[in-house]
Amino acid sequence: IGFVSKADPEVGAAMAKELGRQQANLELIASENIVSPAVMAAMGSVLTNKYAEGYPGKRYYGGCQYVDIVEDLARKRACELFGAEHANVQPHSGAQANLAVYFALLKPGDTVMGMNLSEGGHLTHGSPVNMSGSYYNFVSYGVSPETGRIDYEAVYETAMKVKPKMIVAGASAYPRVIDFKRFREICDACGAILMVDMAHIAGLVAAGEHPNPVEWAQIVTTTTHKTLRGPRGGLILCKEEYAKAIDKAIFPGTQGGPLMHIIAGKAVCLGEALKPEFKQYAHKIVGNARALAEGLLKRKVKLVSGGTDNHLMMVDLTGLELTGKELEQRLDSVNITANKNTVPNEQRSPFVTSGLRLGTPAVTTRGLDAADMDLIAECIALAIFDFEANREKICGTVREICARHPLYE
Ligand code: PLP
Repeated sequence: IGFVSKADPEVGAAMAKELGRQQANLELIASENIVSPAVMAAMGSVLTNKYAEGYPGKRYYGGCQYVDIVEDLARKRACELFGAEHANVQPHSGAQANLAVYFALLKPGDTVMGMNLSEGGHLTHGSPVNMSGSYYNFVSYGVSPETGRIDYEAVYETAMKVKPKMIVAGASAYPRVIDFKRFREICDACGAILMVDMAHIAGLVAAGEHPNPVEWAQIVTTTTHKTLRGPRGGLILCKEEYAKAIDKAIFPGTQGGPLMHIIAGKAVCLGEALKPEFKQYAHKIVGNARALAEGLLKRKVKLVSGGTDNHLMMVDLTGLELTGKELEQRLDSVNITANKNTVPNEQRSPFVTSGLRLGTPAVTTRGLDAADMDLIAECIALAIFDFEANREKICGTVREICARHPLYE
């Protein structure tokens, strides 16, 4: 930030404020994390200067001998970490990764099944406002209203009826284990390709805290910046028979030059994820999520599906006057950052919502433990049920936790 401030005080000042915000806030956005200094340094490095269209050994530019080493390391580590046959580390984001898979394996108008956005799916799983939903005939599936869990029986019935060419499994707001074996069986029964988007849970998968979709799916996509704790970007893993089609769909199909500085960050992050410390970290993410969920439940806060198996949970405000939007604003004003989210059977607009998504990857990186989770649960319960009387108390608790767990000092 010092370099930037000297050269460009306006941008530098905003960056310094953002650093201050991250230091003073409890980050509970389930899709965010805090990268290591090594990942950060790789992203802000001379590799950003290099054009390297193509793949290692087959570039369209000279001078690629060193970035080739970096990309090969990233690909090799991704395959080793997840047990995959092939990895493409060039997608600029998770959305790019998903769209490239569709471009590689589908024709416009093909039928695909994906999880409903309002019940936990992602925009790129067939939302009408996304390219996926406008180019392909997405038929959505969701969760059972009683249990809040994926209704696999209904997925099977729909799949046998619509005979999709592909089924997309994976979610942005689903607090339970996803049964990839079950999805595989459904795909085999209806003749579909299984694509898993493990963006949210990739770090948990890497550490063995969630079943590995690579065992069951032909194609697995992910982001690298959520539980995996790497740079903002995407990654595609696939069986060898799909490698050529996937690589072609990324470049030249949907992207130009790869971001070699980000790929260096991915290589470093994947190297970190291969170390035993990362296993402990992912185990703590899940333990902290369980502690936060228990803390909320014992204070009469309702959670979709009654709890969590992974890194996130969904506060269910159905039946209360308070909306997801208002709760997000209340928490923002006391330095707790989270996001409003639709819940299954949502009655409010997606801009208002009856839910709030909470996740523990970032606070776990910061070093918070189960006792801290109980303090945070108390803050959130007070924000829901008796906010104005407790605003100062919540601010004090947040300040105290942040001071005990300093960030970037
Ligand atoms: N897939 C899932 C399941 C996600 O949750 C997200 C991001 O929230 C994405 C894909 C898209 O990732 P990106 O924001 O990098 O495009």
